[in-house]
Amino acid sequence: MARIVQKFGGTSVRDIAHIRRVAERVAAEARAGNEVAVVVSAMAGETNRLVDLCTEISPLHDTREYDSIVAAGEQVSSGLLALALQQLGVTARSWLGWQIPVLTDEMHGKARITSIDATELRQRMTAGEVPVIAGFQGLACGGPSRHGRIATLGRGGSDTSAVAMAAALQADRCDIYTDVDGVYTADPRIVRRARKLQAITYEEMLEMASLGAKVLQTRSVEMAMKHRVRLQVLSSFADVPGTLIVDEDEKVEQEVVSGITYSRDEAKVTLIGVPDRPGIAATIFGPLADAGINVDMIVQNVSEDGRTTDMTFTVPHSDLARATDALTALSETIGYARLVPDENVVKISVIGMGMRSHAGVAQRMFKALAENAINIQVISTSEIKISVLVAEQYTELAVRTLHSAYGLDHL
Ligand code: ADP
Ligand code: ASP
Ligand code: MG
Repeated sequence: MARIVQKFGGTSVRDIAHIRRVAERVAAEARAGNEVAVVVSAMAGETNRLVDLCTEISPLHDTREYDSIVAAGEQVSSGLLALALQQLGVTARSWLGWQIPVLTDEMHGKARITSIDATELRQRMTAGEVPVIAGFQGLACGGPSRHGRIATLGRGGSDTSAVAMAAALQADRCDIYTDVDGVYTADPRIVRRARKLQAITYEEMLEMASLGAKVLQTRSVEMAMKHRVRLQVLSSFADVPGTLIVDEDEKVEQEVVSGITYSRDEAKVTLIGVPDRPGIAATIFGPLADAGINVDMIVQNVSEDGRTTDMTFTVPHSDLARATDALTALSETIGYARLVPDENVVKISVIGMGMRSHAGVAQRMFKALAENAINIQVISTSEIKISVLVAEQYTELAVRTLHSAYGLDHL
């Protein structure tokens, strides 16, 4: 007997027929004698619909109200799945974040889970009940007001809900069921020749996720790594082995490059005519950090006249309006001449543990892109990845070219 957390994404619960199929899968696991907790996403498209409603009313909305609205999708899907399970004779009930409770910090829209009290759930699971937990949501109550507002965990956050539940329940496994049958060397929707990986290390998966492979939310991988949760990605629709996320020493094959990712969730900001003096970077990036905006790639040009320079950096697309607002308000303090936003960019990355011990990996990337006349705007590297920023229209071409260049195409 094992204790298992099963998570089902939006496409897996997109309509009643699919919810019934999910219920069958959960029931089978429970009938096999396992203790099962289920985490669900909203029905496919529902979160986008709710987000669009908020944006239509006000592009720069109060993020606490945003959370209250967009968390609603999971309330519906968890209730529906509980009903479907009851119809199959399984004792089940739905749980919202605040009912468990799943506590979070107050960073509404992308809150972090701070603690989960799983005592009640564990007792009920031992007694044979299946909790159906609304993913993506929690209760923000750490602040001075302690009013307890609903918080959401950022897009794709149900993965993190699932891993956090697995950790809190000390589950033997966390199975992430989705619309692909595992983690591939690149997004299989873009690269037809992408290969399914039998296993991938936590470190590589962390990079893949944070650099755009949305099959798992980055924080879910971080959390799995920290709490040693056994994580696998599987298909909701086919009974085939998925991809296991493993420790480095558990992985048999060790490629130099294990995956290529792209992220369209980027926007580039260039500040032209920035005074070239000590402390300028802190003046620019401090307020962005205070506003909860993650700055990613940064380039500062060499100053030709010793007085002014240009500073280019990227922020998440969804934060561009907030970033330009913050910087416009500071234009006098910083003293730049012009701010140029550019939304027409994509970040392409190659990832692999093997890069640590191989030279020439970056050169192969630059050469392959050059041969296709793709101009590189910004470059950033770490021990196990290289990222470049290019114009968005080259997304598919760049990903496919690099997939072939590193010998990842399946034959
Ligand atoms: P869910 O709704 O189940 O959470 P998501 O849409 O969030 O599903 O994630 C699954 C999607 O991730 C796939 O449909 C696929 O297009 C995309 N994806 C991107 N990169 C990869 C990759 N390297 N391997 C597998 N899937 C990927
Ligand atoms: N429903 C949320 C979203 O679409 C959370 C998730 O699916 O993981 O982002
Ligand atoms: Mg997802």
